[in-house]
Amino acid sequence: MSQNKKAALLLIYTGGTIGMKKDLQDGTLKPFDFSQIAQQVPEIGQFAVDIHTHTFDPLIDSSDVEPSMWQKLATLIRDSYDQYDGFIVLHGTDTMAYSASALSFMLGNLGKPVIFTGSQLPVGVPRTDGKENLISAVEIASAKDEAGRPMVPEVCVYFNSLLMRGNRSVKVNSEEFSAFRSPNYPPLAQAGITIKYNREYIMKAPSAGTSLDVATSLDTRVSILKLHPGITREVVRHILCGKESRAVIIETYGAGNAPTKEWFTDIVAEAAASGKILVNVTQCLSGSVDMSIYATGKALQKAGVINGYDSTTESCLAKLFYLMGKTADNELVKVLMGNNLKGEISIF
Ligand code: ASP
Repeated sequence: MSQNKKAALLLIYTGGTIGMKKDLQDGTLKPFDFSQIAQQVPEIGQFAVDIHTHTFDPLIDSSDVEPSMWQKLATLIRDSYDQYDGFIVLHGTDTMAYSASALSFMLGNLGKPVIFTGSQLPVGVPRTDGKENLISAVEIASAKDEAGRPMVPEVCVYFNSLLMRGNRSVKVNSEEFSAFRSPNYPPLAQAGITIKYNREYIMKAPSAGTSLDVATSLDTRVSILKLHPGITREVVRHILCGKESRAVIIETYGAGNAPTKEWFTDIVAEAAASGKILVNVTQCLSGSVDMSIYATGKALQKAGVINGYDSTTESCLAKLFYLMGKTADNELVKVLMGNNLKGEISIF
């Protein structure tokens, strides 16, 4: 797109609270169509931007999001990529961090913004946060640098004044407007009187002439084992050794620690020996796994568990889906899990 041409954005509406209203019969929130959002936020028509919309059918509460929806989203972005300067995805907040993480891996060589946003209160409610979120998302998705290149050529979540890398974001609050955080990576921008971009943290666009490379093949055979005091041998065995999973994310304590009981270590070793991909991610909101600090972490490392570093669980899950969809070779997936593919982990 030339620098002087009006920017064009594709606004993809998938559902979520932003576009819901109360069903008078049962009192629950249900999605309504996009024309009503546009009516409620006429400000988006004031930007020097052409906004086209694509509405998913059916519109969904994001608790119903499935990987097939990510495939639909990625395909839509691929098929319309050349026509637009940026993309906005209106999405429910509950699983937004999963979807943004997944898209960050699926959209290879992305050179344009894909901004996920939504709201805690429907856009038709007087105190809604949806208006500001949507208006700022439009501004960010159409922002260009001095050379006319997209300011933020990556998948992001914009929420309550913060622009975050999608695969670093987590939903941390179910009722405050400040619902998302990026605990292990600085925000990419902050919206105040102006939108201040933290350029040193924003991903560089791929070199000119590189084309978008969309991966839609996902292998979803991943389970999550969250450790807790009192967890039983049967539960651990069922999740770690179950035939249904190719990989298990173990949500450990602190810096990546787990019980040292013999039965626990034996089951982990048995699962690892069977070739299963076992990834260690911490239950802590911030900080990284380091299995070399405590004996309790070392035992996992020795058994063959790989380091998830400071990955969020959402991002780790999406990365496994993506890498396992690319290759049937578990050993290769284990190696690639340790690479920083899309700014999702910090390796020092
Ligand atoms: N349940 C809603 C959803 O995730 C919540 C929201 O959008 O805030 O679709």
